[in-house]
Amino acid sequence: MTDFSERIKYLADRYYPVGQHARHSLHAYPETAFEEVRTSKLISDILSEYGIEHKLIAKTGVVGLIKGEKPGKTVLLRADMDALELEEAPSALLRSERAGYMHACGHDGHVAGLIMAALILSDLKSELPGNVKLMFQPAEESVGGAKPMIDEGLLENPPVDAAFAVHLWGEAEFGEVWIKNGAVMAAPDEFRLRIIGKGGHAAHPQFTADPIVMSANIINLFQQIISRRRDPVSPAVITVGSIHAGEVHNIIPSHADLVGTIRTFDREVRKLIISEMEKAVSAVTNAWGGSYEFKVLERYPAVLNNPDMADIARIAAAKIVGADKIKEPSVPNMGGEDFAFVANAVPAAYLFVGIKKGEMILHHNPNFSFDTEIIKVSSAVISQTALDFLSK
Ligand SMILES: [Zn+2]
Ligand SMILES: [Zn+2]
Repeated sequence: MTDFSERIKYLADRYYPVGQHARHSLHAYPETAFEEVRTSKLISDILSEYGIEHKLIAKTGVVGLIKGEKPGKTVLLRADMDALELEEAPSALLRSERAGYMHACGHDGHVAGLIMAALILSDLKSELPGNVKLMFQPAEESVGGAKPMIDEGLLENPPVDAAFAVHLWGEAEFGEVWIKNGAVMAAPDEFRLRIIGKGGHAAHPQFTADPIVMSANIINLFQQIISRRRDPVSPAVITVGSIHAGEVHNIIPSHADLVGTIRTFDREVRKLIISEMEKAVSAVTNAWGGSYEFKVLERYPAVLNNPDMADIARIAAAKIVGADKIKEPSVPNMGGEDFAFVANAVPAAYLFVGIKKGEMILHHNPNFSFDTEIIKVSSAVISQTALDFLSK
């Protein structure tokens, strides 16, 4: 196989102004779940300008197709499009023009990088042995856009044989590529718990069933499930992210509402944690004269990298950034990612491209920012990965 890496790097330089402009424009106008109308139009306009076939699915999602002139498989490349409801720090170099909204996870860079990869791979069409499908996905940060896109036929016509996604990463040094086999991102479940007690006068607790005291016990027991019931070598998190009960100082309320997240990788660990949580809730409410409603909403499965796909990405990335910049994170990330639905359907790998220069860059933080130049690296890495997969 001819090595295309020099051409890919050359094309990444050449198309950088297009990517840079896209990133600046997306950063200025951040949009959230299924409202990525302007984002979607920007993608569509650029793909049209360069003659890349595409259509809109799942409201604001865009699917593009680059048909190689040689027969072969189909590889899917994915970028998430959505921003966050967060007010950007006033000191930011690139400014969001929408108050209360911000691209604070780097998805503006993901879209810009995938647009560049589309232009690069489209230029290599005559030598491309197979097809490249482009997945611009809405709503990663909230309700999830991957599943609706799959439901609307994303993985068909032509059928997808493998998939790759990149996340820009504030923990990794600028230009490093982190790739891991197996568990990469956790399965995030949401739980909703109502502790039902008996309200009354704060001065006479003996006549009540205090849901606040029950909640305090339950929250502690949840953390003890993590330390005492779970196998210490199987990662898991329980976080109570919200608790609401009572209004004033002298009334014991009748109920307390707790909302939180459970993060796991292993289905068995997940089952154990949910059942132990329910046991704890039942025991405490039973002992203290209350009752409960407990619901677990399964959101995404865990993202598990297929080792063969991870290897293809590793070798491809090394051609772009050099082998010394390829790192293997030792532990998976407890964050959730709905790319999991794609990775559950076809062999896939999810990689991280570093943006850190100096101090670690925190995602979902009002000061989040990165040097746009990184999209030269991310677009070249993902293009080389797609090409290497198709050429195998
Ligand atoms: Zn995020
Ligand atoms: Zn993200």
